Amino acid sequence: LSIVIFLLNLIFLLVIGFFGALIVNRERHHHKLQYVYKDLVVRDYLTGLYNHRHFQETLKVYLSGTCKTEMALVLADIDNFKSINDTHGHVNGDKVLMKIGEILQHSIPSSLGNAFRYGGEEFAIIFQTADNEKIIPCLEKVYKELREVQFTSENGSFSVTMSFGLFSNQQGISNQVDIVRRAVKLLYKAKHNGKNQGIFDCGTVIRG
Ligand code: GH3
Ligand code: MG
Ligand code: MG
Repeated sequence: LSIVIFLLNLIFLLVIGFFGALIVNRERHHHKLQYVYKDLVVRDYLTGLYNHRHFQETLKVYLSGTCKTEMALVLADIDNFKSINDTHGHVNGDKVLMKIGEILQHSIPSSLGNAFRYGGEEFAIIFQTADNEKIIPCLEKVYKELREVQFTSENGSFSVTMSFGLFSNQQGISNQVDIVRRAVKLLYKAKHNGKNQGIFDCGTVIRG
């Protein structure tokens, strides 16, 4: 009889173990999926950068009372992108956007900030610092890499430039719309002054 009880116990434990392993496995899979979905929600499909929604959310966190750190906002816009599309086609235009996504991603260390696709051919960078000595090398790197890329299409090869407007928030402005407006103003100034340049609120100008 004791052998029968022993065997019954053994079977019971094996069944429990089997279902336990099954549950753990399912949970692991579920967790992985959750991570993938979370990433999909914050990423832009074309460029792989963070999307506009995540830009707004990140900016909000930065400017909220709980996290009042120094920061700087860069708005970037590709120069003459409409004519690139017109001359080389929309598909090649998309390739330009993807390449710029790549360049931004590896030119800005995540310890300093993050890059976002703000809209169509517009990008944003939120720096976790307002220190120009850290920010300028990142933007110079973007310009250097962009200069070195030669795009090609059936209609010939071409290069691409872009303009930046940088507002560094040292005054502790906490209004999201206000900060974006200030960076946009500097971006317009860069466009107005001949494009392929970045203008900082302190008056510094970098050139592509
Ligand atoms: P500027 O130098 O003043 O910025 O001029 P621009 O031609 O770059 O600016 P404009 O606003 O006139 O044109 C932007 C173009 O970007 C128009 C639009 O068709 C194109 N665009 C927006 N989103 C996408 C996209 O996802 N893919 C492609 N290929 N083109 C896009
Ligand atoms: Mg634009
Ligand atoms: Mg443009």
